[in-house]
Amino acid sequence: MLEIIPVPVFQDNYVWLAHDHSSGETVAVDPGIADPVLAAADVRGWRISQIWNTHWHDDHVGGNAEIKAATGAIVTAPRREADRIATGDVFVDEGDVVTLGEHVAEVLAVPGHTLGHVAYHLSGVGALFSGDTLFAMGCGRLFEGTAEQMWANMRRLGALPPDTLVYAAHEYTLGNADFALTVEPDNGALARRADSVAAMRRSGMITLPSTIERERATNPFLRAGSVEEFARRRAAKDDFR
Ligand code: ZN
Ligand code: FE
Repeated sequence: MLEIIPVPVFQDNYVWLAHDHSSGETVAVDPGIADPVLAAADVRGWRISQIWNTHWHDDHVGGNAEIKAATGAIVTAPRREADRIATGDVFVDEGDVVTLGEHVAEVLAVPGHTLGHVAYHLSGVGALFSGDTLFAMGCGRLFEGTAEQMWANMRRLGALPPDTLVYAAHEYTLGNADFALTVEPDNGALARRADSVAAMRRSGMITLPSTIERERATNPFLRAGSVEEFARRRAAKDDFR
């Protein structure tokens, strides 16, 4: 059994801790900072044995060194960003696999937010660590890549099994819902989801993980009809508010 819990850090980041009960292994996905992540593992009696990074941004890798020093964790990071992630031990790219106990994560190259960005897909348990590529009702900003690249990611991630749980790296859900409603004001599933996430945030709840099914129904970036439409939506989101 794989238990996955969020550790909220900074303004709106989530570090995901996944613990495999049979092997005792624990992975921290995108630890931007060490202390709260080490503390969250400690209170559960988990020892962090691995770190998986999706991309080089500091809010995703900033805690690597300290967690390694405290636990001896092995850091898996995107190969195409090896020069920017000095704390990396194992570098991976499209087609590689990473294991946590008996669980296997396939590495998906999803460039766009950064050029080396990867996602980790545990198809056996139906979980996707999507980093800053796919968010609840949103997608990552194009800092390094092109709309074509991100659109290809949307097509590909949108084709994963509908019950796949999507563990994104940020709580951007409310702002994403506001934007999505401007794109699809008549989408009933979107309107209901916007209401429900607003209520969740009011009571301090975390709105993740999402599912691929929910994203297919409500995410304007997955739902674009063409790369041109995707690019227009992505550009409009950059200027939203
Ligand atoms: Zn980022
Ligand atoms: Fe980020």
